[in-house]
This record gives sequence, structure tokens and C-alpha cells, in this order.
Amino acid sequence: MENNHIRYIGCINKKAEIQKKSSSGGVFYALCEKIIEQGGVVFGARFDAQWNVIHDWADTLEGVLPFLGSKYVQSKTGDSYQKAESFLKQGRWVLFSGTPCQIAGLKGYLKTEYQKLLCVDCICHGVPSEKVWQQYLHEISQNKTIVDISFRDKTDGWKDYAMRIDYADGAQYRCHHLQDPYMKGFIKNLYLRPSCYQCPFKGNNYHSDITLGDLWNAQKMYREHYDAMGVSLILTRTKKGWTMMESIRQQLKTFEVDERVFEGFPSALQPAARPKESDVFDSMPGTFCQKVEKLTKVPVKKKAIRKLKRILKRVT
Ligand SMILES: Cc1cc2nc3c(=O)[nH]c(=O)nc-3n(C[C@H](O)[C@H](O)[C@H](O)COP(=O)(O)OP(=O)(O)OC[C@H]3O[C@@H](n4cnc5c(N)ncnc54)[C@H](O)[C@@H]3O)c2cc1C
Ligand code: SF4
Repeated sequence: MENNHIRYIGCINKKAEIQKKSSSGGVFYALCEKIIEQGGVVFGARFDAQWNVIHDWADTLEGVLPFLGSKYVQSKTGDSYQKAESFLKQGRWVLFSGTPCQIAGLKGYLKTEYQKLLCVDCICHGVPSEKVWQQYLHEISQNKTIVDISFRDKTDGWKDYAMRIDYADGAQYRCHHLQDPYMKGFIKNLYLRPSCYQCPFKGNNYHSDITLGDLWNAQKMYREHYDAMGVSLILTRTKKGWTMMESIRQQLKTFEVDERVFEGFPSALQPAARPKESDVFDSMPGTFCQKVEKLTKVPVKKKAIRKLKRILKRVT
């Protein structure tokens, strides 16, 4: 594997409406534009009619819009590996996006290196199962007809992102990620897939050309480049990834960063820790929201210690 093109770049899509629709800086869409311009095909994750997440393909700019935005549910790859192979054999460019394990699965399936295959994965916290997601969705939505969902609504900015569910009757559920029950449990690793707690695709074990992530540390480390609507991290892994990055630079505001951007955000380097509460989540009585509330409750003593530490930090 080529490994001398490892570069870290902070990026923001110059198209503000794309940045707003995307999870961080909107780099994924700029890659899609390049591939489609060359007659290629993009594979990504979108919602299906039941609001589960599936992999699908598109070869128009309109067609890739449903892939924008992170969906924190395991995506079913279905027959997407076979379809990607068939497009590659026709000589078309293929951008395959997904989690690092899905990219490893694609490479294992293809067994051949294709010059026109661009693999794009993400820094990956992990994914909950479809079952957990549907439990939450039914409880929150109470049989109302859903017309749109965003895990990363930026109405209050990138860092204060919210879970948003729009209903056919015009109603809307919107809740800050630190208050929403599903996101609370996700962030605390309460119900990730068992494989995510032992994920091998961390650090230098990758199969992609490009890895995308949220550049959460931009505000602290690269203040002059910070943008409250989101900043992406592009990590180029191969020569192909680097060449592709260079070819879309015109569409982006970019700045060089280094691996210190992971400080405090270890998802790129190690699997999520498995809390002991995750063992009892399925079997304990109660509704989804009650169970999350109970298992993520911070004891009063711990809360007081945290508060004291914050005060001490301010006065010293
Ligand atoms: C499950 C998951 C966990 C993540 N965890 C982290 C993390 O811990 N730290 C971090 O820095 N970044 C994480 N990311 C990446 C981050 O949220 C953004 O995807 C990334 O910053 C690119 O953003 P963007 O604005 O360029 O494009 P966006 O438009 O947000 O990119 C969307 C891309 O994500 C893919 N995608 C969306 N949902 C899924 C899914 N369920 N399965 C597979 N692919 C999917 C789409 O196919 C598309 O390629 C995660 C992404 C996912 C999907
Ligand atoms: S954490 Fe690892 S195993 Fe889990 S979805 Fe991400 S890449 Fe796959």
C-alpha cells in the first residue's frame, strides 16, 4: 500500500448551502462533484422508506444529496460491492464512501486494485444497530409520518448540533445532541455494535484513499480558520487520495494541520470503550428513553466534583 502521501488538511466547502447540509465542512460533496464530472458513480449511505440506513449509488449531483450528513446507524451494504465492481469493469470512476470496515469489506470482495476506484471512509466512533434506532424512532415519533431526519442539524451551529425529525403534519422534533436520548446513549457508547468495541480499523490499519472527519479542534488550534458552520478534516492516505484532494482544492477553503488535531478525540486511534452499562441495556426494563436516562445519569457526587473542578480551573 502506498503510504507516503499522508497529509492532514482542514477544509470548508465554499458553497455555504452544502456546508450547512453536511456534517462538518462539506468536503464529501466536493469529491462527488469531481467524480460525477468525469462520468463516475458515487456510493454512499441514505435513508430508506422505513428510515433505516442503506448503501446506494448515484451518478448525478441531485442523486448524491441524500448521502450528505452522517447517519449514526449501521448502514446495510446490500449488493453495493457487486454493483461497484460492475461499474469499475465498465471503466467508470467509482467513489465508494462508508465506514472503515465497509471499505475493508469492499477491498476484500474486489481482490483487485482498480485505478478508478476512490475509497473514502470516515473517522469512526462506531454504529448502533438498526434495532436500537427503530426503538428510539418509534418512541419519539409516536406513529407520526416522518418526512426528513438530520442527526446533525446546524440551526444552532456546528458544535451545538441537534437531532431533527420533521413530520408530514408540519411538526418538528429538534433536540440538542447532549439532551437527545439517542445521541446521549451513542456518545456514551451504550449500544454500539459489538465489533465497534474491538474495531481493528484504527491508526495505521486503513484501506481507504481518503479519510474524512470533524475538525473539532479547529476553534482551539487554528482559530483564524475556524467556521461556526463546520470544518472538515481530510486525511489523504495514498497518492490517488492526494491527487484527488488537489483536484478539488479550488472548491474549498483549506489549511494545513497535523495529527495533533486528534487530541481529545481518540476515535481515529482507538476503539470506543465499552461501558459496563452496555451489558444491561437490552435486558433492563423500561422504555428506550427511560433506560438511556437511567444509565447516563451522573451521580450527584460526581456532578459536584466536576463543578468544583470547573470553578477551580476558572480561578487558577
Ligand atoms: C457512523 C459515523 C461515525 C463517525 N464518527 C466520527 C468521529 O468519531 N469523529 C470524527 O471526526 N468524524 C466522525 N464521523 C465523520 C463525520 O461525521 C463526517 O462524516 C465527516 O466529517 C465528513 O463530513 P462532510 O461534511 O465532508 O460530509 P458529509 O456530507 O457529512 O458526509 C457524509 C458521508 O458519510 C457517509 N455516511 C453517512 N452515514 C453513514 C453510515 N451510517 N455508514 C456509512 N457511511 C455513512 C456518506 O455516505 C457520506 O460519504 C463519523 C461518520 C459516521 C458515518
Ligand atoms: S467502529 Fe469500526 S467496526 Fe464499528 S462501524 Fe466503525 S469501522 Fe466499523
